[in-house]
Amino acid sequence: MQCEETFNKFVKYKVDLFIGSAELIPKEESMHGKLSVRVCRPTNCVEIPTDKICIATGSRAHRPNKIYKNISIEFVPNVIIDSTEMSQIVDLPRTVGIIGGGVIAVEYATVFAKLGVGVSLICPKKNFLPFLEEDIKEALRARMSKEHVLFLESEISGIKLTNDRKALISFQKMALHPQTLKVDLLMYSGGRDANSEGLKCEAVNVEIGKFGRIEVDSRCRTTNPDIFAIGDVSGGGLASIAAQQGRYVSDQLFLNRLVIKANSMLNKSTPMEDVLDDDFFGSQNENVFESNEFESTEYESVEAESKLALFGTSFGAKVPLTLWTVPEVAGVGLSEGEIPYESKGKYVIGYAYFKDLARGRFSGEDGGFLKIIASVDKIGQHVVKGVHVMGEASNELIQLGSVMVHSKATLEQIVNTPFAAVTLSALYHVASDDALSKSPLSLY
Ligand SMILES: Cc1cc2nc3c(=O)[nH]c(=O)nc-3n(C[C@H](O)[C@H](O)[C@H](O)COP(=O)(O)OP(=O)(O)OC[C@H]3O[C@@H](n4cnc5c(N)ncnc54)[C@H](O)[C@@H]3O)c2cc1C
Repeated sequence: MQCEETFNKFVKYKVDLFIGSAELIPKEESMHGKLSVRVCRPTNCVEIPTDKICIATGSRAHRPNKIYKNISIEFVPNVIIDSTEMSQIVDLPRTVGIIGGGVIAVEYATVFAKLGVGVSLICPKKNFLPFLEEDIKEALRARMSKEHVLFLESEISGIKLTNDRKALISFQKMALHPQTLKVDLLMYSGGRDANSEGLKCEAVNVEIGKFGRIEVDSRCRTTNPDIFAIGDVSGGGLASIAAQQGRYVSDQLFLNRLVIKANSMLNKSTPMEDVLDDDFFGSQNENVFESNEFESTEYESVEAESKLALFGTSFGAKVPLTLWTVPEVAGVGLSEGEIPYESKGKYVIGYAYFKDLARGRFSGEDGGFLKIIASVDKIGQHVVKGVHVMGEASNELIQLGSVMVHSKATLEQIVNTPFAAVTLSALYHVASDDALSKSPLSLY
């Protein structure tokens, strides 16, 4: 169904589709004497000459031989598995152990807990979704504890398969912490490897970095000026980042034609660079990983997976983050922790709790809330900079927050906009009122 929908779009927009495994061919080796892509199927290959290429080959679960220092892990079908295999299981286990604290690990943990499976999440607290707002993270952990998720933070000292085909995990000694855990199914979710090998990147001078990721600049350009890379293969980590980067690259490739056409109609000239919004795409943290200590130990790559989800690229937090946990968690824009200490007085933060709204109470999400962050502008208006939500339909609600952040909406505009009654959207009204009530500059 989804394939058909995508295929119809290709037809509508006149995109040629070649199904097969792709590799990059430098012009010296190409039969066309031009940069080319070779697409192969078991029976035949075609070579497509091209001026520009965009690589979007995604990522796959990282499967190490050893996790954390010298602890080895042997993957065993249906017992000790990765997240790819997890998506293929047919029987619901009674107990699951999950190693990792990133998006994938936490999503599976909450879903299994909701299904009544006994879940143990094995990860140090600092590695639990480290990119999330502190209060959202705490609320999610509290909600998971309520669903009987057991958080285990002690270091693993061994993993083995038992005679009755269960996974036995041993831990270093720690007060109030079990020393062993036996589960029906153990999933290791320690980051993702980019699908860059096999593309022959080296032949076309495309540089590869950590975890196999293709190195790109803030405009998604690789080290070869004619080749772009987007999404997980260059460290995106989120579906929304991949989609937005795709749009951005196609703008860079094709927008100049439209600009030239428009300019010729208006009889003026505008450089392409001015057309692309650098403030949106270019000025964010170009390489957040540079300053971090993510080396190759696998516990660190669990952490890297978590950070990657929000900061994997220069697109950073401006792209909405949506986590399909139970309950959903979403965020866009500035987080409270990012406000510099000396600027705290220029920001206001408002909250709206699901339990305080009729529609919120229907959702049964008594711990859910929406948080809005705004900064005071030169004329004393409060401009929305960030929104963070936990609770039912957060992943829908965040789109409104994204529009607010990107259109630089003010809290004053929000409180003066009529909102439909008995809706979750009204959380924005309540949170904006709350924020304004705390601002010394507010007239409301
Ligand atoms: C279990 C799980 C949960 C997730 N949860 C969330 C979430 O809650 N929120 C969120 O935003 N993101 C989530 N993600 C991440 C999200 O799915 C990815 O960020 C997104 O799919 C990346 O898109 P992409 O286009 O870069 O790669 P993909 O969607 O992986 O697509 C890459 C495609 O390229 C193909 N390919 C690979 N190599 C070649 C080759 N040589 N030739 C031709 N084709 C090739 C692959 O077969 C694949 O079809 C989750 C991921 C997983 C695995």
